[in-house]
Amino acid sequence: MKFAAKRLENLPPYLFAEIDRKRDLLLAEGHDVISLGIGDPDMPTFDNIVEKMKEALDNPANHKYPSYAGAPRYRAACAEFMKRRFGVVVDPDTEVLALIGSKEGIANLFPAFVDPGSYTLIPGVGYPVYDGGAIINDSLSYWMPMNDENEWLADFESAPPEVLEKAQMMIINYPNNPTSAIAPVEYFDKAIEFALKNELLLIHDNAYVDVTFDGYVAPSILERPRARECCIELFSTSKSYNMTGWRCAFAAGNADAIKTLGTVKSNIDSGIFTAIQDAAIEAFLGPQDGTDKMKDLYQERRDAVLSTLESMGIDALQSKGTIFIWAKVPDGYTSAEFAEKVLLDAHVIIAPGNAYGPYGEGYFRISLATPTPRLIEALGRMQKIM
Ligand SMILES: *Cc1c(COP(=O)(O)O)cnc(C)c1O
Repeated sequence: MKFAAKRLENLPPYLFAEIDRKRDLLLAEGHDVISLGIGDPDMPTFDNIVEKMKEALDNPANHKYPSYAGAPRYRAACAEFMKRRFGVVVDPDTEVLALIGSKEGIANLFPAFVDPGSYTLIPGVGYPVYDGGAIINDSLSYWMPMNDENEWLADFESAPPEVLEKAQMMIINYPNNPTSAIAPVEYFDKAIEFALKNELLLIHDNAYVDVTFDGYVAPSILERPRARECCIELFSTSKSYNMTGWRCAFAAGNADAIKTLGTVKSNIDSGIFTAIQDAAIEAFLGPQDGTDKMKDLYQERRDAVLSTLESMGIDALQSKGTIFIWAKVPDGYTSAEFAEKVLLDAHVIIAPGNAYGPYGEGYFRISLATPTPRLIEALGRMQKIM
């Protein structure tokens, strides 16, 4: 007997399985392996947020089932954040929805908006849940081309008519994981125009909106004209406030779409623990100096990684945001071969680019979410083997 639905056969093989196996062998031999593969901040959640959580725990009203859509005070705080940060006014009752992390929101987009057998346009390299969510929903992905030539701006214009005929949704993500690319506002405008023309719901995953460098301030797509007619934007506390473990995010945008997503979710989950929502209110509206310091630290690490890669003759994107560096594998290797070489010879884990989609072959990703001394040690080892 096999206890797995047929659709699961379509999930891609776990590309880190072989790396994990070799890592375990090295660890068993007593080697010190450093991982630059993980996209999880190494620093703790900021103190003011943790303190707020402690207080919120003592409120018995918080111990009951949460509101499905998010506590009214949480949704009001999300709306206030949108206003302060972007000058965007959203109605907290109809245009904001709490999410148990944006990953949950992304997975539930598919049953909410895409019929089985229909297409979603997804980034040609991207967060694996975009394709995984489509597969689990028995729907199809069109990988929008992304490469050096188009500056890693997902090329929706290339979608053929037979795909567009059956497409219901399109997902973009800037600042981008895994490439660290950012998008000019003109790109967002074109994406909105394209979505309106082709009757697509446009999703902007804005997980890295507040992890940016060199003074770059990332926008909300909802700042752009007509965005509210066709867009939902996803925001998360995870990367902005080192809160990946708390599972707290929100969606904002088109009221009809927010309502539909809420309907699906109310049949699946029962909302975010209300105490966590109280802590997240502090994150969004409290002092932002923790985020500012965090950006400075990532920027220092970015500079260290980019200058080391340059000294090794490796080309990398000059990142303006996210916690990742996207670099070209040296000639003569595939992504997987190079990741294996770096693991076996330098005992350092890097992420092979093809793990993120078909346009990632020939690249690798380094995470900046590693304590600085370990990151420097890993870079030194990589330099030695090249
Ligand atoms: C980390 C990440 C997320 C997940 O965020 P959660 O709110 O922690 O679920 C979503 N999208 C991208 C592109 C990410 O890198």
